[in-house]
Amino acid sequence: MNKTVSILGSTGSIGTQALEVCEKHGLKITALAANSSVKLLAEQARKFSPEYVCIFNAEKYADLCAELAGTNVKILSGMEGLCDIAALPQTDIVLNSVVGMVGLLPTLTAIDAGKDIALANKETLVAGGELVMSAAAAKGVKIYPVDSEHSAIFQCLQGNKRSQLSKVILTASGGPFFGKSYDDLRSVTKEQALNHPNWDMGSKITIDSATLMNKGLEFIEAKWLFDLTPEQIEIVVHRQSVVHSAVEYNDYSVIAQLGVPDMKIPIQYALLYPDRVSCPTGRLSLTDYGSLTFAKPDLETFKCLSSAIEAIKRGGAYPCLVNSANEEAVGAFLHDEIKFIEIGEIVSSVLEKFPSSDINSYEDVMKADKAARDYVRSLIS
Ligand code: MG
Repeated sequence: MNKTVSILGSTGSIGTQALEVCEKHGLKITALAANSSVKLLAEQARKFSPEYVCIFNAEKYADLCAELAGTNVKILSGMEGLCDIAALPQTDIVLNSVVGMVGLLPTLTAIDAGKDIALANKETLVAGGELVMSAAAAKGVKIYPVDSEHSAIFQCLQGNKRSQLSKVILTASGGPFFGKSYDDLRSVTKEQALNHPNWDMGSKITIDSATLMNKGLEFIEAKWLFDLTPEQIEIVVHRQSVVHSAVEYNDYSVIAQLGVPDMKIPIQYALLYPDRVSCPTGRLSLTDYGSLTFAKPDLETFKCLSSAIEAIKRGGAYPCLVNSANEEAVGAFLHDEIKFIEIGEIVSSVLEKFPSSDINSYEDVMKADKAARDYVRSLIS
């Protein structure tokens, strides 16, 4: 394995697991970037000796320089640094695992530089799906999904004709509040929302999993990654998170990908594609599980999910608007400014509040992003 990898978001849940995978298989790390975790980033830099590190939060730049004094690592900061790292000529593949739509510009920059991308930053495709996919096609860049569901779909497509795919079945764990009524959600606390039954993840995605916004974002992500219509995507709640998703072909054969719920499997497949080698994770024992269950999602209770689906059906700026409103609302919830149930109310209100508009450029995305965030802030303060 002599691939070289840059990791954007190296101190997060995906980033740290990706480093484990890289270490196990001897992949060379050319660059690491983090938002603000100076100590961990410096520790990773000392261990993996990348040529570059970047701290997104520029206020932490001096701290990082102090931590890495005496090393040869070149230190960058801010969005400029993130984009420089995304475009390094000596990197084969860029793993983008930053949180939120801040990942869009580095993704576009990596594509422009002809870098293949392992994409864990789903907001990139939600906010700028059309821009990203058309730029990737024009540059011949490959986007390997890291999200477990999209990796599953990607794996189920291998060796089959894409033109003979009839639909995809996107599985959802249902989150910690599966089976609850809308009224039950009124009393949800932050601690309950941050406690996911199957996956250990960062706080933004854990809240998104509790509201089911995560599945809404993944619905949009699947549409763009696999060139589907919204009608071709079925969401099925599968509590055990063993079937990571499935595809149906024209002959009604359904092919699924299964495994233990551990992100190292999809991370490794994205970084080492098409190789399948031993992964630092557990084996799946179906008999330990005994039974697997499947149910329809509750689109009435989980307004974030229904809003995201409606947004991609409408198209234009709506997916970006609901995503940005959600990012802002989740931030407010994590800062105790709003209740859990208000996240869904805020996200769904965006569909009523904003008239339809088009996305033709990165600037259009940023304009929609700002408008949605300003709107949410005006509701809160
Ligand atoms: Mg997922």
